[in-house]
Amino acid sequence: MGDGPTVRLREQIRALFLARGFARVGFTSAEPVADHVSTWVAQGRHGSMDYLAREPAGRADPGRLLPGARTVICTTTAYPATDGRGSVAGYARGEDYHHTLKAALRDAVSELETLLPGVATRVCVDTAPLLERALAARAGLGWIGRNTLLLDETHGPWTLLGEVILDAALPPDTPGLDRCGTCTACLDACPTGALDGARGLDARLCLSYWTIEHRGEVPDRFARLLDQRAFGCDDCLAACPHPARPPAALRQAPDPAADGAVRNGGPAPGVGRGSTACGVGPPFVPRSDLVDVTPPELGRRAEESFRRHFSSTPVERTRRAGLLRNVSLTRPPPSDV
Ligand code: SF4
Ligand code: SF4
Repeated sequence: MGDGPTVRLREQIRALFLARGFARVGFTSAEPVADHVSTWVAQGRHGSMDYLAREPAGRADPGRLLPGARTVICTTTAYPATDGRGSVAGYARGEDYHHTLKAALRDAVSELETLLPGVATRVCVDTAPLLERALAARAGLGWIGRNTLLLDETHGPWTLLGEVILDAALPPDTPGLDRCGTCTACLDACPTGALDGARGLDARLCLSYWTIEHRGEVPDRFARLLDQRAFGCDDCLAACPHPARPPAALRQAPDPAADGAVRNGGPAPGVGRGSTACGVGPPFVPRSDLVDVTPPELGRRAEESFRRHFSSTPVERTRRAGLLRNVSLTRPPPSDV
């Protein structure tokens, strides 16, 4: 694969991803990013998530996932913000994004291959050992906030990440600027002090970790803070002043400008409503049955059939026993008190 693809080619490729409902698309080289995971793991802050401790340094290098890697195309997918209350975290109020995002990325790749014949690619969504946030920030999609999440000014922290690594060189975008400033709202909002203020998180103190990743008993000091949270915690997202406007009303799509260019940041009709400009499913598919559901109702559904109600959603990760455990630790909904 040659080294001289033009900016125009990059923009053509960006357009075909945006047309599939991705909120933002950025390009960066496949050079390794700084490895902060090794220290984090050495400090034990990953808790019992042993999969994160396997070759932590390798996560910094996209070349470990695709021989000859030259470029990483980073994408964000917007999902509706929450107010931080509710029993299910916002990102989980949809179909399992591992499947929907991957399908949309693969669909984009199939068209990309017509522009770059013979290109080798690897699609990554969350489960691949890759420092997604650092790559996305370097690809200009935003910055890593004090809540440790990728943020951008249009969607704040309410996005999911996905990448395509390829062995073709494409011009990189300009890295994003840190816009946290002197804000500490997420640190102040965290009920457990899990955020260290230096873009670090101690998973062993995080309610999302205890309600999603942890198997077994939840220590009392965390259990009594769950309130209505039966799956995840959105407090450090909901406290963030970004974006200024609610992301549910903001998506990104092909820019109707006369030059036909496609840019990050515009409104995107159709995204999240079951179709995109290309006719493939959107990368985030909301599930209304997970929006206003109470913990007791989650418990009832888990008892009835965990598989039927949750197997195609991120809630599946905590498994039936984990969800029932969490529900048993929540407080009664306000209307039941
Ligand atoms: S998810 Fe909740 S507990 Fe975890 S860091 Fe954010 S606010 Fe703190
Ligand atoms: S709440 Fe403030 S400090 Fe935290 S991520 Fe958002 S802007 Fe940054």
